[in-house]
Amino acid sequence: MDILQVYKCAKCSKEAFPQKLICNHCRSTDFIMIDSEYAIVEETSIIRHMLGSKDWKPRKIGSVRTNKGVLLTVGLSDEIESGDKVILFQQDGAILGRKE
Ligand SMILES: [Zn+2]
Repeated sequence: MDILQVYKCAKCSKEAFPQKLICNHCRSTDFIMIDSEYAIVEETSIIRHMLGSKDWKPRKIGSVRTNKGVLLTVGLSDEIESGDKVILFQQDGAILGRKE
């Protein structure tokens, strides 16, 4: 698993994910990729059913906000609750949060 990388504006350092064409802060179009640091869980919920998926197992997701202010929806392991600090990883195209 790799640490999630986010896009950082080369001019004003504002971070974004997914990538934006233009920085919404300074209008620059230059971004660099950096490792995200950590995020705080704001809200969690459980997806109990998925349309068209027979073998779906309930899965926890949450809204998290990175220390640089980027809001993301990520998969979470069961023990993670609102207010927890998580590290974000990317695996098979999905973003996952794990406790440090
Ligand atoms: Zn910028």
